[in-house]
Amino acid sequence: MASHVVRVGDVEIMMLSDGMLEFDLCNFFPTIAEENWTPYEAHLHEHKVRFNLGSYLIRAGGRTVLIDTGLGPKPAETPDAPWGQLMNDFKAKSVRPDDIDMVVMTHLHRDHVGWNLKTEGGKYVPTFPRARYWMPKKDWDSCHDPALQPTRFVNAPQCVWPLADLGLVEFMNGEQSLTRELTAVPTPGHTPGHMSILVTSKGERALVLGDAAHSPVQVLEPDWVSRADMDPDLTRQTRKALIERLEREQILVAAGHFEAPGYGRIVRLEGRRYWKGL
Ligand SMILES: [Zn+2]
Repeated sequence: MASHVVRVGDVEIMMLSDGMLEFDLCNFFPTIAEENWTPYEAHLHEHKVRFNLGSYLIRAGGRTVLIDTGLGPKPAETPDAPWGQLMNDFKAKSVRPDDIDMVVMTHLHRDHVGWNLKTEGGKYVPTFPRARYWMPKKDWDSCHDPALQPTRFVNAPQCVWPLADLGLVEFMNGEQSLTRELTAVPTPGHTPGHMSILVTSKGERALVLGDAAHSPVQVLEPDWVSRADMDPDLTRQTRKALIERLEREQILVAAGHFEAPGYGRIVRLEGRRYWKGL
């Protein structure tokens, strides 16, 4: 298996996983006819799509940044769920929750915010006690919209909202630098405020993709949107522009839902773009 760690100039990126999620094709991609998947069987697992729940830990300039926090602890009644592993992976890779200076959420869907908080004595406390928590302002607004929250931001009341009462929230508004090496880049569509995170060091670059794509198949089929993409047209537009830029500028990609560890590049072969894993 490919290494969980890559270096970009002076920056180290490490993939940590909360496990995986699996969906039937017709469930996750309801608008794509099943026969259209035939050329891509190699990307499927018994006719299902399987997503890694990848977070990326970035060590840069003396700071430790965690991008996305998985789906969260699995409930006791679902002991066989193949997720809820992030804290185990922290231990396995010798990372401690109090190493984290910043938590950055690419967006506020449930599988990116799950481990933000824990409860102690009936109160919410941050899982990462030294961190401030960065999130897109537009997603913060959307997750408070009663028309959207119950279906689109299901665990926000438990995993996101209490961060404000604890005084830990920082907002990302449009493109902005987060540290000397990290820049938030708006990639909207999947959610209104969705952000990808650009890593730059010593002339080298990588992009933590977030959910601008869920599967390498979408590099070949950038129009294929899933039910999780809140604005399908904007999702397509953003994805196409992003894929073109990633190929043109040969930026390393860290894709949290692709097969772990999710590192690769966009390459062009006979006029088509492909995902090429590291
Ligand atoms: Zn996701």
